[in-house]
Amino acid sequence: MKKQSRAEREAVNPQQAYKILKNGNERYLKKLSSDRDLSARILQTSRDQNPFAAVLSCIDSRVPVEFIFDQSIGDVFSIRVAGNVVNPDVLASLEFACQVKDAKIIVVMGHTHCGAIAAACEGGAEGNMTQLLGKIQNAVKALKEERPDAGDGEHFRDEVSIRNVFHSIDEIRKGSRVLRTLEKSGKMQILAALYDVRSGGVRFLDERAQKS
Ligand SMILES: [Zn+2]
Repeated sequence: MKKQSRAEREAVNPQQAYKILKNGNERYLKKLSSDRDLSARILQTSRDQNPFAAVLSCIDSRVPVEFIFDQSIGDVFSIRVAGNVVNPDVLASLEFACQVKDAKIIVVMGHTHCGAIAAACEGGAEGNMTQLLGKIQNAVKALKEERPDAGDGEHFRDEVSIRNVFHSIDEIRKGSRVLRTLEKSGKMQILAALYDVRSGGVRFLDERAQKS
């Protein structure tokens, strides 16, 4: 595989970045993932990196970001934190990815059967988990108020995952002027996604992405 120069990377626009990820997940689902020479990629990226995407996702062991998008070493900034929540360090990492290193897309990706979401729905946590789950509980509360009859089963929790993804995107936009400016200028886009741990499929949740 040829090393991609900075100029070539800059030629990738946000919409193309989305398609690279979407097509990568389709290959993954069809068991057509690329046969990658990882040793070659280690060599190619040993001096510099130019990832085209940043993905904020959960720590869940069933959601390995590069695998599910059929990407390799040097392709994606992967930021992982339980429940894909946002804090100042996450914002700084995203700013580094997009402002300093020119990544063209941020995908905030929740997943089905998320332990952090389940714990937030159940309430009650210990130690540092308390403040983390508190961030997700905003989504639980909002959804319960909207749909008092929704119960708290699997479907409800997956709906909370989706709500939580959009909440994280709001936090990114609110918390980072740098990222807001990049997004407004069209140099970078932020998309929401949900990964299904049963199928391996990534569903992009934004209307804009679904139309293309
Ligand atoms: Zn999770």
